[in-house]
Amino acid sequence: MEERWARRLERQEAIVEVRNRFLEKDRSLDRAAFEEVFDARTLLTIYRLMKRGVIDDFYGVISAGKESRIYHAKNRAGEELAVKIYLVNNREFRKGRLEYLVSDVRLGRVGGSIRKLIYLWAKREFLNLKQAYEAGVPVPKPHAVIDNVLVMGFIGENGQRYPLLRETALSVDEYADIYRKVLEGIATQYRRAELIHGDLSEYNIMCGPSLSVYFIDLSQAVLIHHPRADFYLMRDIRNVNRFFASKGVEVLEDEEFFEEVTGRRPYELAV
Ligand code: ATP
Ligand code: MN
Repeated sequence: MEERWARRLERQEAIVEVRNRFLEKDRSLDRAAFEEVFDARTLLTIYRLMKRGVIDDFYGVISAGKESRIYHAKNRAGEELAVKIYLVNNREFRKGRLEYLVSDVRLGRVGGSIRKLIYLWAKREFLNLKQAYEAGVPVPKPHAVIDNVLVMGFIGENGQRYPLLRETALSVDEYADIYRKVLEGIATQYRRAELIHGDLSEYNIMCGPSLSVYFIDLSQAVLIHHPRADFYLMRDIRNVNRFFASKGVEVLEDEEFFEEVTGRRPYELAV
C-alpha cells in the first residue's frame, strides 16, 4: 500500500517537474494552452525518456502543427534531437488513417481508442524511419518511441534546423543537382527500404550543406506491397517533378522517373 503511494507521489512529482521545465522552455504556450497539448500521461512519457537518458534537456519548439509539436532537444551524449509529440487530444485525427494502419503487416491487428491509434501512428513513423535509415535513405535517425512521443536525430546544426526545400532560393543548376539527389533518395527508399514516402513534396524535404537532402515526416509511408503503392509513388513523383519544373529544371517524364525508381513502367494509373 505504502509503496503504491510512494510511486504515485513520484509520478506526481515527475509530472510537475516536466511541466515546469516545458513552461519555462516553450514560451509560445501559456498555462491553459499547455494543458490542452500535454496531458499528464504525455508528461510522464517524457519523464521516462529523460530518466533513460534518451532526452537530457529541451531547448524550445521547432514546429507547432495541428497534429504534433516538434521540440529541439539533446540527449546525454550531447547529440541534437528532434522530439515529435503527437497530440492525443487531436480531434482531427481522421479515421482515414486507419487505412494505412490496418494494411501494415508489421503492426498486427489494429483497433481501439483514438489514443491507441495515435500511439500506433507514432510507432509506425518510427518503424518507417528505422527501415529507411538502415537502408541508407537520408532521413532523421530514429532514437526511440514511447506512446505518442518520437525521438529522432535533428536535421540541422546548433539548434537551427536546415531549410525545407520550399524555403530555399537557389540557382537552376543547384536545383538540378538536388533533383538528382531526390530521385536517388526515392529509388533507395523503394529498392532497399521497400518504402514509398506517400507525402513527398517541397514541404517534407529538407536541404543541408552542399546541397544534401533529407526526407522527413514518414508517418504515412507505405510498404511497396501496399495495394495502392504505385498510386502513392506516382503522386510523390508528380509533386517532385512539379516543384523542380517550376524552378526551371529539365525534369524527366513522370513515367520515366517511375521506371528509374522501380525498374518497370507504370500500369495505367488513374490520376
Ligand atoms: P506539418 O503538419 O506541419 O507537416 P507534421 O505533424 O507533419 O507537421 P513534420 O512534417 O514531421 O510534422 O514536421 C514539422 C516541421 O518540423 C517540419 O516542417 C520541419 O520544419 C520540422 N522538423 C521535423 N522533423 C525534424 C527533424 N528531424 N529535424 C529538424 N526539424 C524537423
Ligand atoms: Mn509534414
